[in-house]
Amino acid sequence: PRLANQIAAGEVVERPANIVKELVENALDAGATRIDVDAEQGGIKLLRVRDNGCGIEKDDLPLALSRHATSKINTLDDLEAVITMGFRGEALASISSVSRLTLTSRYHEATDAWQVSAEGRDMVTSVSPAAHPEGTTLEVRDLFFNTPARRKFLRTEKTEFSHLEEHLKKLALSRYDVAFCLRHNNRVIHQLRVASRGIEQERRVAAILSPQFIDNALHVDTEAAGLSLSGWVALPTFSRSQADMQYFYVNGRAVRDRLVVHAIKQAYRDVLFHGRHPAFVLYLTLDPKLVDVNVHPTKHEVRFRDGRLVHDFLFRTLHRVLADVRP
Ligand code: ADP
Ligand code: MG
Repeated sequence: PRLANQIAAGEVVERPANIVKELVENALDAGATRIDVDAEQGGIKLLRVRDNGCGIEKDDLPLALSRHATSKINTLDDLEAVITMGFRGEALASISSVSRLTLTSRYHEATDAWQVSAEGRDMVTSVSPAAHPEGTTLEVRDLFFNTPARRKFLRTEKTEFSHLEEHLKKLALSRYDVAFCLRHNNRVIHQLRVASRGIEQERRVAAILSPQFIDNALHVDTEAAGLSLSGWVALPTFSRSQADMQYFYVNGRAVRDRLVVHAIKQAYRDVLFHGRHPAFVLYLTLDPKLVDVNVHPTKHEVRFRDGRLVHDFLFRTLHRVLADVRP
């Protein structure tokens, strides 16, 4: 059961994209309103995430990198285990065990910034002074430099970057109140401002997905029986280059769920006789007591207390929205 718990709760560090997700989530946890992600060579050579969040106190810097996990790592097998299983609350420790990591931060109540680094299984270096505005920068270099077997699993630079970009898009679509910037090999790929009004949000979705998506999408905004659904669904006139453009959030968390996809496809098929690859960005909000988000390690799956209710609500809402424009 202990092992099962770790697997159920753990995060997976298998490619740059997973690391970006962990680091950006940490930045969001720290209350950041601006997050900059820099990647080089697909994130394998370098991943840098800078935020303007609350920062980390000087004395806490070494602790952030060295939790229980690292002390148990003695062999290459142990390292591989960390990669595939991950450890909850130990993302930084896990990442630092398979990279060259530098953590720089200025705590919001402090006047100075400090830095620690770790390289592979080596001890965290002592805390040294640094220059940094309020907030935190995590720099991860040479991913898997000490685990050659794992390094071989990495795909091309281009593929790794597209995974990484996809994770960032997913996060950016969940937090319109945070500005994001993504650079790859010093080129700006996404520059996203805070979007508070509806029109700004549509502009942001257009920037993240494509202007064609918004041009060919219907706006959804419905509430019934304690459930609310908002966002956009694309009409069949939207021809996308990207195979999969399906973003669904439950109470702000990105979710992949068969029941959800089924309800959406069925509404499309019913109204438009076309339900093969619907494109959508949808936000479902409901009482947190009616949903269990932690059924899968990557937290992409959910379990609804009343799946039937959710299915019917999604189906009926989208059916009505789509039927309004049926040619
Ligand atoms: P977890 O996020 O599950 O607690 P992590 O290994 O991801 O574990 O992070 C360890 C700790 O380091 C966090 O609990 C937090 O206190 C601190 N931390 C990490 N990243 C940041 C950040 N960007 N800003 C402020 N604190 C951070
Ligand atoms: Mg974390």
